[in-house]
Amino acid sequence: MKLNRRLFIGAAGAAGVTLTAPHVMAAGHGKPRVVVIGGGAGGATAARYIAKDSDGAIDVTLVEPTRTYYTCFFSNLYLGGFKEIDDLGHTYGTLAAKYGINVVHDWAVGVDRAAKTVSLAGGATLAYDKLILSPGIDFVDGAVEGWDLSAQNAMPHAYKGGSQTELLRAQIMAMPQGGTFAMIAPPNPYRCPPGPYERVSMVAHVLKATNPTAKIIVADPKDKFSKQALFEEGWNTHYSGMVDWIGPDFGGGAVSVDPDAMTVTIDGEVTKVDVCNVIPAQKAGRIADMAGVTEGNWANVNPADMSSKVDGDVYVLGDAANQGDMPKSGFSANSQAKVCANVVRGALTGSRVFPARYSNTCWSLIDSDDGVKVGATYEPTPEKIASVDSFISQTGEDAATRKATYEESEGWYAGITADMFS
Ligand SMILES: Cc1cc2nc3c(=O)[nH]c(=O)nc-3n(C[C@H](O)[C@H](O)[C@H](O)COP(=O)(O)OP(=O)(O)OC[C@H]3O[C@@H](n4cnc5c(N)ncnc54)[C@H](O)[C@@H]3O)c2cc1C
Repeated sequence: MKLNRRLFIGAAGAAGVTLTAPHVMAAGHGKPRVVVIGGGAGGATAARYIAKDSDGAIDVTLVEPTRTYYTCFFSNLYLGGFKEIDDLGHTYGTLAAKYGINVVHDWAVGVDRAAKTVSLAGGATLAYDKLILSPGIDFVDGAVEGWDLSAQNAMPHAYKGGSQTELLRAQIMAMPQGGTFAMIAPPNPYRCPPGPYERVSMVAHVLKATNPTAKIIVADPKDKFSKQALFEEGWNTHYSGMVDWIGPDFGGGAVSVDPDAMTVTIDGEVTKVDVCNVIPAQKAGRIADMAGVTEGNWANVNPADMSSKVDGDVYVLGDAANQGDMPKSGFSANSQAKVCANVVRGALTGSRVFPARYSNTCWSLIDSDDGVKVGATYEPTPEKIASVDSFISQTGEDAATRKATYEESEGWYAGITADMFS
């Protein structure tokens, strides 16, 4: 059987058919082959741009286990009741149908960099000329005493999209009146620096309406956090007395949890809680480790093109990469993916390669129509991707400015998801 691209997605996905290496190689018809692992902000963007701009000259395979990608971006707005879960879900059909991308719904379980192949859980082997890894994050084992992945139903992290976010929302809505929501915040570096604090804002927003005597405690190992002045101003204005942020000076870094007893111990003091959102320390998605491109928790990359420092035919995008000043965000991953796609296409087809320029903006919603943002543009230097200019919302801004900032974020969400999936 000769597999065309549509058959490939159908066969691999629907029937769980095992594809062998010769079948996969036949799909390439002798064209240069790019395999992308991870269909999120970095991977879906890279696959789409390479396929779209090379007009069929490159065979692009995207490996992603889930059929629907639920964005982490805007997942806090779902917790706050501003979005439905379906607003966050995106599928891969257009990437396959419009651009001819071979979308394979499976886990990559191994990378042989010498043979230039990727093995999949279903048994297939994919050959590549260029490999792009954008697997997001995994959690550092033992990062929070008393918590591991087996406790994620009792104490969700909700730091990967989808069911964990739904679980956390259900737990918040089931809290008893006057109950306690605890968050264990992560140490740097981690995905979405303002994410935990936007989440606190959105949880406070929903509790203010449904459970106004509830309390929120945040145990934090960091002595400062992203957009801190803006969040603290917002918490005072909208949720006075509700949020207790405990930094390292007050034991926020000396924390353990007991998921059976639903207790949190901060600096020796045990508190019974009703919901506990544990966001552990993070590292590159495991497949980056398996590919042998990590050093410590992250994968070092060359700032000009996101190629791995240990293998010029492997690129690492998004949260998994250690690149310099860019925060680990969907915006950053998308920006890095476009640089990488341009470079990979140039290397494989001789098309023009433009100098890298990167950018990022992270918006956060504090309350209805009260949006804030922080952002920067970046350029590669020999050592790292370096920030060249930056901006941040100011405390005390008027309501019209904050509303306009929130509306900008809505436009950004529509834009990035179109850039990934349509
Ligand atoms: C609560 C929260 C709020 C956020 N808000 C924002 C925001 O407002 N703005 C913003 O820019 N960013 C935001 N982010 C950050 C953003 O979600 C991430 O930075 C972004 O998704 C990173 O893109 P990525 O491609 O590195 O990883 P992901 O988007 O996570 O994609 C990784 C993909 O790889 C797949 N994968 C993993 N391992 C394998 C494997 N072995 N084989 C095949 N596939 C694999 C996964 O299934 C996943 O789909 C937020 C994050 C959180 C948690």
